[in-house]
Amino acid sequence: MYHDLPRGASFWQFLFSIDQDLAETARKQACPCGGRLHCANYPRKPRGGPDNLPAEYRYRLSFCCERDGCRKRTTPPSVRFLGSKVYLGALVILIAAMRQGPSPRRVRELSNRFGADRRTIMRWQVFWQEHFPRTPFWKVARSRLVPVVEMDTLPRSLTEAFLRNGDLHQAWGKLLLFLSPISIPGGLAIEVSR
Ligand SMILES: [Zn+2]
Repeated sequence: MYHDLPRGASFWQFLFSIDQDLAETARKQACPCGGRLHCANYPRKPRGGPDNLPAEYRYRLSFCCERDGCRKRTTPPSVRFLGSKVYLGALVILIAAMRQGPSPRRVRELSNRFGADRRTIMRWQVFWQEHFPRTPFWKVARSRLVPVVEMDTLPRSLTEAFLRNGDLHQAWGKLLLFLSPISIPGGLAIEVSR
């Protein structure tokens, strides 16, 4: 059954190591003004994770330009946090996907297991079905997926495309990395036609 997360703390440690790589790449690129980037992580209180979630999940990796007069913040993409959503990114995907398919899991069951209330779960379904397909990210990125991912079954179709085979850690890592461009500030903005 691939519609689940790997058990154990090593999975969350693995995702954190991907975030460290993403942060290191961003740090090397420096600020657009040319200034060096200094560590300026900010606190997070993610929900939905296991009790043994690594302590590193209490903050989001982020940087600040060292130059006076600039001090611009650079927040690299993340496979742990989906933008400003309170729940861990993997849960925002997984729980919405579990509501779909031939034998959808009940809201009450998901709510008991992950602690997300009914309204939150409904919001995520609306997010994947209506908001996410309208992001510039998805309009470009979907063409990179083979086979084509069905829009009307998002996000389950995404999990099926990525988690079909192979090691579950690696597969989740790839799915979250694929989605990581929407995790940065502004990454979920949608195009409004005027
Ligand atoms: Zn700067």
